[in-house]
Amino acid sequence: MSLDAVLAKIDAGLPQATERLLDLLRIPSISTDPAYKADCERAADWLVKDLESLGFEASKRPTPGHPMVVAHFDAPESAGPHLLFYGHYDVQPVDPLSLWSRDPFDPQIEDTPAGKVIRGRGASDDKGQLMTFLEACRAWKAEHGTLPCRLTIFLEGEEESGSPSLIPFMKENADELRADVALICDTGLFESKTPAIVTMLRGLLGEELTIHAASKDLHSGMYGGVAMNPIRVLTGIIAGLHDDTGRVTVPGFYDGVPELSDEMRAQWQGLAFDHARFLGDVGLSVPAGEADRTPLEMIWSRPTCEVNGIWGGYTGDGFKTVLPAEAHAKISFRLVGTQDPFAIREAFRAYVKGSLPADCSVEFKRHGNSPAGQMSIEHPAFEASRAALTDEWGVAAAYVGCGGSIPIAGYFKTYLDMDAMLIGFGKDDDQIHSPNEKYDMESFHKGIRSWARMLDRLTR
Ligand SMILES: [Zn+2]
Repeated sequence: MSLDAVLAKIDAGLPQATERLLDLLRIPSISTDPAYKADCERAADWLVKDLESLGFEASKRPTPGHPMVVAHFDAPESAGPHLLFYGHYDVQPVDPLSLWSRDPFDPQIEDTPAGKVIRGRGASDDKGQLMTFLEACRAWKAEHGTLPCRLTIFLEGEEESGSPSLIPFMKENADELRADVALICDTGLFESKTPAIVTMLRGLLGEELTIHAASKDLHSGMYGGVAMNPIRVLTGIIAGLHDDTGRVTVPGFYDGVPELSDEMRAQWQGLAFDHARFLGDVGLSVPAGEADRTPLEMIWSRPTCEVNGIWGGYTGDGFKTVLPAEAHAKISFRLVGTQDPFAIREAFRAYVKGSLPADCSVEFKRHGNSPAGQMSIEHPAFEASRAALTDEWGVAAAYVGCGGSIPIAGYFKTYLDMDAMLIGFGKDDDQIHSPNEKYDMESFHKGIRSWARMLDRLTR
């Protein structure tokens, strides 16, 4: 069977694949520091050359910042879908250098009690991960003389420095970049052991408010009792944002919040998520979200309202019996499904205004807003990937959510109208962004095999 032959090529070629990764890791492509500009160019050139050797038509594309690498392979008799693969070749800075056990740009294979690891900056985030896909293509090409389907490779060099060129580049090159599905390889295994496909990403909305009462700070001996205290008003408003069951009370807040499908709920129940340990690690014990939801639902599929900061009056040393003229808070909402950030901003502001007593006024300041990413998993690439991951890792792969925001997935949806699958093989202890970053050799090897299995399933 031809898949077996491809997998055998991957196994036999692992030493050479590792050497290629080490070579790429030696290039200090730190995107945030202008001193490394030439190195970012060098990393892009390295990738263009490697992609050309795989039969891609590859080019380095200038941006106002670091270049993008874009490569195309047009399968003549394409059996499968057109896939776009995204990764990034830039890395985080390395300081403090003294905490590294070795030169971060002189990567090495190390034996550790947990197995062999590739140690060096970028090993896991994201050079090791992006090379898993290129190596799978290489083995496929070696076995079949061609690649299995139409492929576009899109590699960014500014991911670790805020991606300033990404959206303009996507907009300008939308026709060229659009494919059936995007594969994003920049995430990890669930709890370091279960292969996972992220299909839900929470969005974010930020609001800052200032409640004004008296025209100036007052003395609480003189005015206390008769003058309204804006901190009392603010805390009353904040206290009213949740009901006794943990639900957010802003009218219309749950519009667009989808109910989890039975199948997804069953998958999540099957995940070995130890919420006692998750909370215990930070000194807590009781989940604080909606009473009828599991902890994983609270993190992945339910929206939130959190107070991130609150201040007013006198907070310095000693004591001052002030009755302040104003009080402030910063409040954020994590959003899911098709919740509309603009509608929620308006509803929140209306709730606050409706809660103000006489003589008080409110001033709002808007912070960022991004909608949630909810991937439609109907494209066959989703199930094919899940089956491929399950075959390779011997553990049922799951569709999972992500409590934080990974904007890139949303950009593919917004600017290119594509659903994205986030699949990665990183582990929680990979120390990405920290000293001594590593990538497990097992992740690298099985990651390559996983992509080969997925390509096989999609083009059978
Ligand atoms: Zn990354």
